[in-house]
Amino acid sequence: MGLALSHANSRNQPASTSSRAPWFVLPLLFAAILGLEVAVWSAAKPSTATLTLEGQVVKLAELLKADDVQVDADAVPFVLALRTQDGKLLPIVKTLGSRALFQDGRLLNRPLQVRGRLAAGGSVLVIDRFYTLKNGVPHEVYYWCETCAIRRDYPEKGVCECCGGPMELREVPLPR
Ligand SMILES: [Zn+2]
Repeated sequence: MGLALSHANSRNQPASTSSRAPWFVLPLLFAAILGLEVAVWSAAKPSTATLTLEGQVVKLAELLKADDVQVDADAVPFVLALRTQDGKLLPIVKTLGSRALFQDGRLLNRPLQVRGRLAAGGSVLVIDRFYTLKNGVPHEVYYWCETCAIRRDYPEKGVCECCGGPMELREVPLPR
């Protein structure tokens, strides 16, 4: 602002081509530099960007066997990764959004669409939501007790907290 004003005052000075640049050039230049800085900042902060990825969630422990890594048996269920379509492996942490994947093996090794973000400098996938893909169509996943009409996003122990009956895995296509 101050710079733009002092630049405007230079009109009173003997004119040369360079000092007669239109008054709006400097603010535009600053805006461009600021915009660039914002772009660089967001590139360095991948955790803020929401991603949609497709791939399969796999047990890392099984892949690691090929490299002679023996994962402790009690850790095996908690070491999952998304294998993306282009072959990248992104470790997944167990959070509310990924909990069903850690609790229900039926969701592993099959096509999924995953929405989430990369954390820890881009090396860990945090899942907000996931959908199973059937013929390329995303399906919402939930667990349902028919007796009590109770719906949950993850199966916990696979039994209804109310009647003790089974929680049935449901996959419902998203409306197009
Ligand atoms: Zn029930």
